[in-house]
Amino acid sequence: MILKKMIFCQLILCLLFSIIAVTGQPKQIAFTIDDLPLNGPQFEPKRLQKMTEKLLASLKKNQVPMVGFVNEGLLYGHNDVDARISILKIWTDAGVELGNHTFSHLGFKDATLANYEDDFIRGETVTKMLMKPHKPRYFRHPFLQMGNTRELEDSFEKFIGERGYKAVPITMDTMDWMFLASYAKGLNENDKAFQKKVSDEYLKFVALKIDSSEKISKELFGRNIKNILLLHANELNADNFDALIKIFRDRGYQFITVEEALKDEIYRFPDKYAPTSDWLGHWAFSQGKHFETPQPPDFVQKIFQGK
Ligand SMILES: [Zn+2]
Repeated sequence: MILKKMIFCQLILCLLFSIIAVTGQPKQIAFTIDDLPLNGPQFEPKRLQKMTEKLLASLKKNQVPMVGFVNEGLLYGHNDVDARISILKIWTDAGVELGNHTFSHLGFKDATLANYEDDFIRGETVTKMLMKPHKPRYFRHPFLQMGNTRELEDSFEKFIGERGYKAVPITMDTMDWMFLASYAKGLNENDKAFQKKVSDEYLKFVALKIDSSEKISKELFGRNIKNILLLHANELNADNFDALIKIFRDRGYQFITVEEALKDEIYRFPDKYAPTSDWLGHWAFSQGKHFETPQPPDFVQKIFQGK
């Protein structure tokens, strides 16, 4: 009997080791969310607070670490700056680390280095105040646009590096900014059926994007990488956050911090430079490869284009 048990245990161990040998690195992902406090068309603080609390409640319940990238320019111009700063504070109170996404969501492609650096510095005032005694340490390029040349990007990263910041690329996104146009239409028209249709299509699309990113990273690196996911602070995500997290959980993903993700050696620059912080695209370009990626359904694209 004891012998049988020992053989059984050895078999189980053997099986476990072979699973690890086949799969290599576990599936891991760090969540990041951009355009805080509100991505897309702006609305009043009361609604924004509700959205923020819903998103953060789901985050807390699911114990997912996250970094939120702020456009401080979004705090001004609505005559309610205090209310919008208080909403940003809900994020830090919930333990979300904030990062800099420039003041005005400026694309590097259309800016001079001096302009871009100005907008970076202007974008950290409130964030620094809210994060005390900690300091912001992450930067996300708006539109995922890095400097047009490697030299320009290096100069910018040196500039932010001297101020304690690191640029954070991404390896996965959900094109939530495009689905948002449809979802906002459903909300504005109070059309519950359409809201559900958009949510269902969005979640289906998230699954397709995960499949696609996994396939591309396996082809580029031959293993599971430490992913960084890009999301946006909007009602589409707030209303679907539990389901979105569940998709990753069901596929065996572990939720890690950005600090942990950046330890993966894929986050160094590939040999051939492309001006993008879409990191799989960047590496594919460097290796002379091209991958087709899934696109949202036609109706989502049309509504986004205003058709
Ligand atoms: Zn953005």
